[in-house]
This record gives sequence, structure tokens and C-alpha cells, in this order.
Amino acid sequence: MFTEHEIAIPSVLKVGDGMLGNMGEILKSKDISHVVLYFGNGLIDLFGDRVVNSINEAGIKIHEMKELDSVDIDDIIDLAFSVDNEVQAICGIGGGKVIDAAKYASYLRKMQFISVPTSTSSDGFTSSSASLLVNGKRTSVPAKMAYGIIVDTGVLKTAPVKFIHSGVGDLTAKITSLYDWVYEEQCGATVVDDFALMIAKKAVNSFVRTPFESITDELFLKELVDSLAMSGIANEIAGSSAPVSGSEHLISHALDSFLERPELHGVQVGIATYLMALVQEHRVERIKKIFTDTGFFDYVETLGMKKEDYKKAVDMAPLVKPHRHTYLHEEKYREKAKELIDSDEILNKILV
Ligand SMILES: [Zn+2]
Repeated sequence: MFTEHEIAIPSVLKVGDGMLGNMGEILKSKDISHVVLYFGNGLIDLFGDRVVNSINEAGIKIHEMKELDSVDIDDIIDLAFSVDNEVQAICGIGGGKVIDAAKYASYLRKMQFISVPTSTSSDGFTSSSASLLVNGKRTSVPAKMAYGIIVDTGVLKTAPVKFIHSGVGDLTAKITSLYDWVYEEQCGATVVDDFALMIAKKAVNSFVRTPFESITDELFLKELVDSLAMSGIANEIAGSSAPVSGSEHLISHALDSFLERPELHGVQVGIATYLMALVQEHRVERIKKIFTDTGFFDYVETLGMKKEDYKKAVDMAPLVKPHRHTYLHEEKYREKAKELIDSDEILNKILV
């Protein structure tokens, strides 16, 4: 089949210390003069003044500013159609929830979406789909790629460190998800997009090779954000989440479906990434090194996550996306994964 790509790439990518205070200037440089601002719960107190002052100084009109706490699709539809026609851009400032809500609202209204994550717990700030509640069930719905991504590394540093661990987990996952994708093609179940594969590989490789003293280093955080953004482009090129979401994500989605209190997305995914690297026998040492050096394994050890839950999730994984063909879609690899959960030294240490 002859296919041609037409993809959306953000026009703005500003990552650095103090960026929240530059929002007005950045938007003005793109001729944006009418906006709405949606903040995550409790964030107006923390960041409201900084953002509003900057936007006022740039002479940009704020049509509405409020905190959002819902990802119910019906609420977001109501919200989207309450936005003034004059508005050019919808800014989502905060964590995954408000980013997804703003992303979907701007998609419905064909307005620009400005993604301003205040934590890097997943690649959601740079993906073109949104995870919303549809009939009470968490569902991935099509939305749009951000027109602008603005990240204040100073803010990332002040957030609890678990959000950085989660981002590291979600990015490192590209090692196993890409391997799954190629395997899926070998099994005749899909066709890999060469360019998406290359971009996502470069994103994760550049990140894991970045030297750092501490995970709150400016360079480390910038590399993390840039690499997550790059893998979002790979997702967009492929037209599906396959390059960025493989068997390790299926395990995490399965955990979400039965755990009373799931851990952060990238934390669950990161543990599953290490497990799947062992199953795939691919780049285990690299993953071990990044999770050891960043303190990811030490952090996970404090959570008391259970081996039994991971085993159950391994069994459920193929049912999460039955049409795919990752390693976990084959019984022998599910058995291997469950054996490794019992026998691997690190997994024994970090899971109870
Ligand atoms: Zn993810």
C-alpha cells in the first residue's frame, strides 16, 4: 500500500529554568493574543501569578482562567463549547489530567493547544491522544499534537522526585516497546515505520547516554523533556502508539485495571520495562544502569508493589490489546516473564 505522511510537529518547544514567566513573550512571538488558561488542581495558588503577570505584560487577553479536575469526556465537551470564539489558544498547565483535558478541548474547537507540563511523569504532554473517562472508563481518544510545549525546569525540580522517576520509566520503556514493534513486524502482524523507529531510538539513546550527577540537574531534565517530546513525534509519524507503547505498557494498563491504588504510570511501566528487557534478552545492562544510577530501583523498593500483581498483569497483558502481537501475546514469553519475576535478583529486591 502506498502511504504518505502528513504529520503535526509543535511549532514551539521551550525548555528551561523560569519558562513559566516567559509564557506571555513566547505566545506573543507567535501572534497569539487571546487565550484561556486551565490549571491543574491547586496550581493557581502556586503558579497563577507568575503566568498571569507574564501574559498580561505581553498584552494578551485571558478570556478565562480556572482549575480543572475532571477528565470526563462530557465535562470536557461542555467546557470546550463554553470557550469564546475569539480565543486562539487553550493552555493546559499542570499534570496529565489537565493536559489531556486542554488537549481534547482544543481539538474539538480547532484552537491551538499549548502544553505546559509541571511534571514529567509521562509522555502525555507530547502525545496526540488524550486519556479521558468515557462512560466511566479510562479511554484513549484522538486529540491533537500540541502547537507549543513550554516546560519550566525550575518547576520540575521543585516537584516530588517520584515524578522524575516516572518520566524516566516512561522514556526508558521505548527500548522494549520498539523491540516489541520490530518483533510484531517479524511475526507479520504489522509494518514498522522506519522513520518513527529511528526517531524514537534516537530519543531514548540520547537520554540514556546523558551524563549526570543528580536527576535534578538542568541538563538531565532538559534531556528528559526533549527525548519525551521526540518520542511523541515518533508516535505521530507512526500514526499509532505502537513505537512508544509495547508489552511494558500493556502490563501497566492491566495493573491500572485491578489495583485499588495504582502507582504513577511511568513507575509501573519502568518496572515492566526491566522485566520485558529480561524476557526479550535485549539491552538489560543498559536499563539496569539507568534505573540504578537515577535511583529508580531504590524508589520502587519503597512502594511495596507485589510480585503477584505483576504476574497477574502479565497474564492479562495480551487482552488489553488483543489485535497486537508483542512478546507477551505468546504464552511461552508470558511464562518466562512470570518465572523471571520470581528468579531475578533485582525484581526480588524491589517487589514484595
Ligand atoms: Zn507511557
